[in-house]
Amino acid sequence: MPQPIRSLQTRCCIVGGGPAGLMLALLLVRAGVDVTVLEKHADFLRDFRGDTVHPSTLQVMADLGLLDAFLARPHDEVRRLHATVSGQRVRLADFDRLRSMPCRFIALMPQWEFLDFLRDEAERSPRFRLLLRTEGTDVIEEEGRVVGVQARDAEGDLSIRADLVVACDGRRSVLRGAARLQVRDIGAPIDVLWMRLSKAPTDDNESGGFVDAGHFLAMIDRHDYWQCAYVIAKGGIDALRARGLDAFREAVARAAPPLAGRMHEIASWDDVKLLSVTVDRLETWCKPGLLCIGDAAHAMSPIGGVGINLAVQDAVATANLLRRALAAPTVSQAELTPLLAKVQARRMLPARLTQSVQVAIQNRLLAPVLRSTGQDTPLRLPWPVKLLQRMPALQGLPAYAVGVGVRPERARGY
Ligand SMILES: Cc1cc2nc3c(=O)[nH]c(=O)nc-3n(C[C@H](O)[C@H](O)[C@H](O)COP(=O)(O)OP(=O)(O)OC[C@H]3O[C@@H](n4cnc5c(N)ncnc54)[C@H](O)[C@@H]3O)c2cc1C
Repeated sequence: MPQPIRSLQTRCCIVGGGPAGLMLALLLVRAGVDVTVLEKHADFLRDFRGDTVHPSTLQVMADLGLLDAFLARPHDEVRRLHATVSGQRVRLADFDRLRSMPCRFIALMPQWEFLDFLRDEAERSPRFRLLLRTEGTDVIEEEGRVVGVQARDAEGDLSIRADLVVACDGRRSVLRGAARLQVRDIGAPIDVLWMRLSKAPTDDNESGGFVDAGHFLAMIDRHDYWQCAYVIAKGGIDALRARGLDAFREAVARAAPPLAGRMHEIASWDDVKLLSVTVDRLETWCKPGLLCIGDAAHAMSPIGGVGINLAVQDAVATANLLRRALAAPTVSQAELTPLLAKVQARRMLPARLTQSVQVAIQNRLLAPVLRSTGQDTPLRLPWPVKLLQRMPALQGLPAYAVGVGVRPERARGY
């Protein structure tokens, strides 16, 4: 016999407990709004997710009075970004030059620590409700307005009525599809293969990258191992597998010679995870009763590791614009609907500019490097990189672009 549909009512239903969803939930409950978050997984313990918490997000933590507690969680601090281009080590960014920021570093923290922290802080409020193992499957629409979400959990179907639904369900957002919002695919010529290789623990975080003809490998220092991201041409995984694991190990060793002695740790293709890179953006982020933010509104390339921080900035802008309307005893849709458009108007520019820079780097730097086969000809340093070496004071500019970005948001008064 089919299960009866259960139902509940909330002021704001957030679908997706990633960086965007949990930060928005924390801000709204602190502003006095009743919030329900749906997260399809049982916990936040997923690997192969971004780990970079940038100075702009650390500023938000400071605004909320949470910086010390946050930095008490396990993390490493990246103060400078380096790359090795055809054997030549260069410095690309110096976060120590961000003098106006409370933290002049990127905090490398496993994403589950970051999300657990946001959840723990939100749970201090009785207004916060987190439904784990609960998947949003559809929007409920009445008279041209989204009035809730259909969801599924272990017990069956669930109907959640809300004054506002916020889709924070990531780059494969079910809700934006259900609401028929148009996605513009911007395209990415690359995919990323993730793998772990061992390292001896060091005091300083040594994250960086190796670039050489035909190869790009980024290494995230996770204290006692390297999380490695080997970049390949889009769709190139089948050809790579066909050439065999030994050929792949050789390619990785050629990309990063200091790691050559550890290739036996890639024991099988099971140790290599493919992460397909997508760059896209919604033309319209909202409709009455529904708003999309974070990757659900704009899937970011991993270049610069800015996706988490843009998602957080979207959440802060959303809470800043909507908190008063949502915390009122009754919500007026006439007041709410124009505010949703204001969130898009505010956050579209940072998303669009950041994606443009990522696409330029993908197409003009990475794709030619991956196509290049001249193993005996060292790559020439691009002129901006040469300039950064000659004038180190300029290394603050890329640090600002990556660490703070366009139109940073502040979370005051929560
Ligand atoms: C290979 C790769 C590497 C990256 N590296 C970095 C990096 O180093 N630093 C960085 O800042 N960014 C990085 N990014 C980008 C970053 O991961 C995203 O931009 C960021 O996580 C977006 O946050 P979000 O909250 O919008 O979405 P997500 O983090 O995707 O969170 C969405 C959440 O919603 C849940 N969910 C999905 N569908 C449903 C549903 N129907 N119902 C209920 N729950 C649902 C998911 O389980 C998830 O918890 C990387 C991306 C890729 C592809």
